[in-house]
Amino acid sequence: MGKITGFLEISRELPPRRPIAERLKDWRELEGKLPEDKLQAQGARCMDCGIPFCHKGCPLGNIIPDWNDLVYRDRWREAIERLHSTNNFPEFTGRICPAPCEEACVLNINNDPVTIKQIEKQIIDHAFKAGWVVPVPPTRRTGKRVAVVGSGPAGLAAAAQLNRAGHTVEVLERADRIGGLLMYGIPDFKLEKWIVERRLQQMRDEGVVFRVNAHVGVNVSVDDLRRNFDAIVLAGGATWARDLPIPGRELNGIHFAMDFLPQQNKKVAGDEVRDQILATGKNVVILGGGDTGSDCLGTSNRHGAKHVYQFELLPKPPETRDGDGVAPWPYWPMILRSSSSHEEGVQRDWSVNTKAFSGDADGNVRKLHGVRLEWKKDASGRPQMVEIPGSDFEIECELVLLAMGFLGPERAGMLDDLGVRLDQRGNV
Ligand SMILES: Cc1cc2nc3c(=O)[nH]c(=O)nc-3n(C[C@H](O)[C@H](O)[C@H](O)COP(=O)(O)OP(=O)(O)OC[C@H]3O[C@@H](n4cnc5c(N)ncnc54)[C@H](O)[C@@H]3O)c2cc1C
Ligand code: SF4
Repeated sequence: MGKITGFLEISRELPPRRPIAERLKDWRELEGKLPEDKLQAQGARCMDCGIPFCHKGCPLGNIIPDWNDLVYRDRWREAIERLHSTNNFPEFTGRICPAPCEEACVLNINNDPVTIKQIEKQIIDHAFKAGWVVPVPPTRRTGKRVAVVGSGPAGLAAAAQLNRAGHTVEVLERADRIGGLLMYGIPDFKLEKWIVERRLQQMRDEGVVFRVNAHVGVNVSVDDLRRNFDAIVLAGGATWARDLPIPGRELNGIHFAMDFLPQQNKKVAGDEVRDQILATGKNVVILGGGDTGSDCLGTSNRHGAKHVYQFELLPKPPETRDGDGVAPWPYWPMILRSSSSHEEGVQRDWSVNTKAFSGDADGNVRKLHGVRLEWKKDASGRPQMVEIPGSDFEIECELVLLAMGFLGPERAGMLDDLGVRLDQRGNV
C-alpha cells in the first residue's frame, strides 16, 4: 500500500463516456480512459485491506490490491503479470464485467469503491500497447489432444490454459467466427471485436487451433470427437432462450434478442446481412430488464428507433442497498442498475406482464397487450404475481425483442448424443 492516506485524500473518479449524440451515430466503444497519472491516483485509494473483500467478490479471485498498488507505483509490467496470473482476458472483463469486486470493496461501505474495473482495463491496454502481451507457447507437448466445444469466454479460457499446459487443443465453434457471446451478442459499443481478435491471434500463435462452422452433434459427430481426442471440454454456453408462448407470438416482428443482436455484430464486421431486423423508425418493446435487454436498447437507439420501451416482469428494485431485503455489503445487491444504453433514451417500466400481441392483416405485430402486476408474498413467503384489476393497457409497437433470460444449454444434438447427466435446472 503505497499511499496510506490515499482513500482519504482522493475521490473516486471515472472517465466520462462519449457524448450521447456522438456515440449514437456509431458502433464504437463509449467508455473512456483516465490519463495515467489520474489512474495511478485511483490505485492509491486502495487500502490493501487485511481481509481484501474485493478478492471474494471477484469470481476469478483477481489479486486486486497488488495490482492497484503496482499501478500507483508506476510498475505496469508487474501489474499485468499479477493480473494475468488469475485472468486470461482482462481486456474483456475490464470492459464488460459487472464488477462484483467493486460491490465487495471495503470502500463501497461509503459508496465510493476503488475503480477496480477501470484500473484492470487500463493495465491490459497499457500492456498491449507496450508490446508485453506476447505468445507464451508451452515448452513441451504432452501428446494429449483436447477438444473444446464452444468458443465463448469459458471455452477460450479453458483452451488457453490447457494449451499452455502442453496439451494439443482444438476449439470447435458452430458459428462462423470465434468468440461466443463476446463476438456475437455483446454489441461493439461495449466491446469492439478487434479486441477479441487480438487475443485470438495470441492463442493461435501459441498453438491453439480454431475450427469454425463446426457444430458438434450436427456436422461433427461426438463419436469423431471421442475417437480423435483424449478429453472433451463442454463450453457450449446457455443458449436456450426463454420464450413467451402467448397469443400473437407468431406475428412478424417478434424476435429473440439473440436473433437481433448478432446480425448487428455481423453488419459492423462488414458482412452482408440479408433481411436484417432493424428498429429504424419503429416503436420497439424490449421484454426483459437485464444485460441482454439493455444491449437491445442500445442497438435499437443506434438503428434510429422512434421510441423504445423496456418492460420487466419483476418489481422495480430499490435504488440503494438501504432498501428492504437487499443483500448488505459485501454481497452482490439486487438494486436498480442503469447501463450506458439507458442513458441514451428509453421508457422503462416494471411489474408488467405481457398477455398477448395483436397484428395487422399482413400478420405484422402492431400492439402489445399488457397488464400491471402487484407482487404479494404467499403463506410460505414466496413472492407471487397478482394482476391489478382494470390495469390492462395496450402499446403500439412494430418490433418486439424477447430478452427474458436463458434456460440452460441446448440439449438436442451434442448433449443428447453424449448422454451427459443434467441437474434439476437442466445444466450439465
Ligand atoms: C446479449 C448479451 C449481453 C451480455 N452482456 C454481458 C455483460 O455485459 N457482462 C457480462 O459479464 N456478461 C454478459 N453477458 C453474459 C455473458 O456473455 C455470458 O455469461 C458468457 O458469454 C458465457 O460464456 P460461455 O463461454 O459459457 O458461453 P457463450 O459465450 O455463450 O459461448 C458458447 C459458444 O458455444 C457455441 N456452441 C454451443 N453449442 C455448440 C456445439 N454443439 N458445437 C459447437 N459450438 C457450440 C456457441 O455457438 C457459442 O459460441 C451477456 C449475455 C448476452 C446474451
Ligand atoms: S476491498 Fe477495496 S480497498 Fe480493500 S484491498 Fe480490495 S480494492 Fe483495496
